[in-house]
Amino acid sequence: MPGLAAHAVRDTYKQKSDTKTTNARDACAPRMVRMRRLAANGCSTMKEKLILESALHPLDSRCVGVDEYLADFGHLEAAERPPAHCPICREEVHISRMHDRARTPYFSHAAGEHAACPLVNSTLPDTKFITIYPPDPGLENRCRGEFIAQWKHHLSEIRRHVPHFSVIRFTQVIAHADVLHLWSSPTLIQEDIPYILLVLSTFIAETPGAAHSTWLRFLFDASIRDPTEIRRPGSNSPHLFRLHYRASFSSMFPNARHLLDWSEVPMNGDFLHGNTPHILMSEVFTFENFIQQSTQSKDQPAKTHHYLE
Ligand SMILES: [Zn+2]
Repeated sequence: MPGLAAHAVRDTYKQKSDTKTTNARDACAPRMVRMRRLAANGCSTMKEKLILESALHPLDSRCVGVDEYLADFGHLEAAERPPAHCPICREEVHISRMHDRARTPYFSHAAGEHAACPLVNSTLPDTKFITIYPPDPGLENRCRGEFIAQWKHHLSEIRRHVPHFSVIRFTQVIAHADVLHLWSSPTLIQEDIPYILLVLSTFIAETPGAAHSTWLRFLFDASIRDPTEIRRPGSNSPHLFRLHYRASFSSMFPNARHLLDWSEVPMNGDFLHGNTPHILMSEVFTFENFIQQSTQSKDQPAKTHHYLE
């Protein structure tokens, strides 16, 4: 019975998200969108349609609810209305209606579950947010040096969104950035670095070490495919999103079917200007040890390996 199944799924999402997300929602998210799905009417395979509570306005890219969209375009026939777009994948969304008495309208992806969107497509290939830049030693040393000088501010900003982000994970993602020569990106600014590191971290367990942790993942909207596109000349402000997943028991990492809620994460450079955040001494030692070793390895000339024929 599709209807019953839909309620069961919805209730499961509600129960888990109620207990897991309250603090994060209060701390950082201007708008937390709890996932609601409806079983497609009469669909025997019990596939679900995602209810998108807001979308990008067709004219000015504001994030608006269905009521606001209909206030502007409700006088037009449905086929004549300019399409709104999903804030994350930027694909077209249209208005569907629930099967309740009020025929409540909501946004849904026009392409349904086939949209190239992490909110709905559970078979979407892993998004690559990677560009290996040509090394620019001068720029790299200056940019990485500035980052290291304020590493506590950067880690603290990351922890504002992921409280259990460990200093070990922090060093691992910096090592990843080193390999990519992120610091040679000509448009990189310090204010964006914590958010880029969150995206590079891909799936992050909310409670590291737990057997079945919930997961977080951070993504820029689909218009940003690598760090140079975050600050393109003439482009709008970048949009970063936080996706929150329940534990996956059948796969190593979750997908759209496990999504609990999502929200936009405000990107703000103010974190660089406050007092130096408190970091445990053990974490400071770990970080300084990593920096010392990684700097030594960068300074050493690459070894040449000779093979006997
Ligand atoms: Zn989408």
